[in-house]
Amino acid sequence: MNYRSTRDPSQQKTASQVIAQGISQEGGLFVPGQFPRLEDRLPELSGMSYQELAREIFRLFLTDFTEEEIASCVENAYRAEKFGGGEPVKLTPLPAEGEDKYLLELWHGPTCAFKDMALQILPHFLTVSLKKAQPGKEALILVATSGDTGKAALEGFQDVAGTRIAVFYPQDGVSPMQKRQMATQEGRNVMVCAIEGNFDDAQTAVKRIFTDGEMQELLARHGLLFSSANSINWGRLLPQIVYYFYAYFRLAEQGALSLGEPMDVVVPTGNFGNILAAYYGRKMGLPVRKLVCASNRNKVLTDFIRTGVYDRRREFHATASPSMDILISSNLERLLYDLSGEDSEKLRGWMESLSQKGCYQVEDAVGEKIRELFYGGFCDDEATFSTIRELWEKEGYLSDTHTAVAVNVYRQYLKEAGLPPVPTVIASTANPYKFSGSVLGALQADLLTQDDFQNVEALEQLTGVQAPQQLRQLREKPVRFTQVVEKDQAGTFVRQLVEQGGN
Ligand SMILES: *Cc1c(COP(=O)(O)O)cnc(C)c1O
Repeated sequence: MNYRSTRDPSQQKTASQVIAQGISQEGGLFVPGQFPRLEDRLPELSGMSYQELAREIFRLFLTDFTEEEIASCVENAYRAEKFGGGEPVKLTPLPAEGEDKYLLELWHGPTCAFKDMALQILPHFLTVSLKKAQPGKEALILVATSGDTGKAALEGFQDVAGTRIAVFYPQDGVSPMQKRQMATQEGRNVMVCAIEGNFDDAQTAVKRIFTDGEMQELLARHGLLFSSANSINWGRLLPQIVYYFYAYFRLAEQGALSLGEPMDVVVPTGNFGNILAAYYGRKMGLPVRKLVCASNRNKVLTDFIRTGVYDRRREFHATASPSMDILISSNLERLLYDLSGEDSEKLRGWMESLSQKGCYQVEDAVGEKIRELFYGGFCDDEATFSTIRELWEKEGYLSDTHTAVAVNVYRQYLKEAGLPPVPTVIASTANPYKFSGSVLGALQADLLTQDDFQNVEALEQLTGVQAPQQLRQLREKPVRFTQVVEKDQAGTFVRQLVEQGGN
């Protein structure tokens, strides 16, 4: 299996090269040269455990990994005890109102958000890849985060041999719970630092370190190289294909459909990684009918799917579903590469226009293909909160804000698309306690306080649903990282991390 860059077809790489490198030199994203088809193997795959299925899918794409290497990555990543016992994801039916819908809970991992599904395995993919592509080197992972990614990356890379990780977050740009999650992170190879400013300042600081020549020399002297845990890395996308197959097989097992019959998939979307994995599953023969792309008020994707015009020149809204507050959905580039018939030149034009003018328009043929496959919809915070209330009152299900956006858009889709209903898998991307304030506010606003831990307790008392151990224990966990620096001081901390020797 060879991989190419979306913007330059002459860049041909192996799996380990693309995982070690992250992004192509000219700014393109790496994509597989072809997608193996699995429709004839559905019966054989349907009885597999999550780990077995993951191994089967990974071996098709990671052709320069050995079977043993893949098996060991999978075993290290998806141990039952890391995901609350049993299989790492759960499919929960929501039977009320006669809709044939199921929540695919992707948040049973160590940080209670779906990012764990990929970030638990990426460090293992990366160490294997480095051994092959950059023998003798260790990786220094730099992350700028607006919340969930930073914690999930820290937890994934914690004490993984051959890696060190530094996470930068905007001092006032993450929730108190997210800040606490990062500041209490354990591990010998981790480092967390707050940046004075907003997310853009943190991201700019990290980019500057990445490209600083002096810094790269320092790294080279210590046998290190920079790497990224960002969702443009193929090693983060590939693991997400597995759970769509897994969910489909559970539907078949429960008698909701027979193998070969279609399902719909609904995904609360930000950077377009999760929904792209469902699209890739469909390309591989998974019977997906429609891909429903759910957004909050930052509805660039809804507009794009409906009109073919991608326009980021708009007001940015801070919403109750912050992990979807994104105006540039990077992974959309991979979809467009595919739907434009792998036309790198066209793609370069669109992406140049996006970075220079802030917008681009795809031609009608591509727009039509997108509308055939996708439905785009959005809802605001008020609608999100009333969906949380409805899910609790009618289904007895406590939902987080991102999942509620997806359920809301699913209902709009049922009304508007005029298609006969089929069993539907809705991706549930965070534990409700990760956003306790919003969820409590939606259910009973007068109980809301400024203190996130009090909100957790109030929500537990109100609903009888227990908060996950990992979040409740945070209160007692010692804070390890308290540094706050100006954005141009971030490099000093990275230098320290390099010189003190990490592991
Ligand atoms: C990251 C995230 C999303 C968005 O996923 P993408 O792959 O970026 O589209 C949705 N919900 C939660 C809770 C997330 O952390």
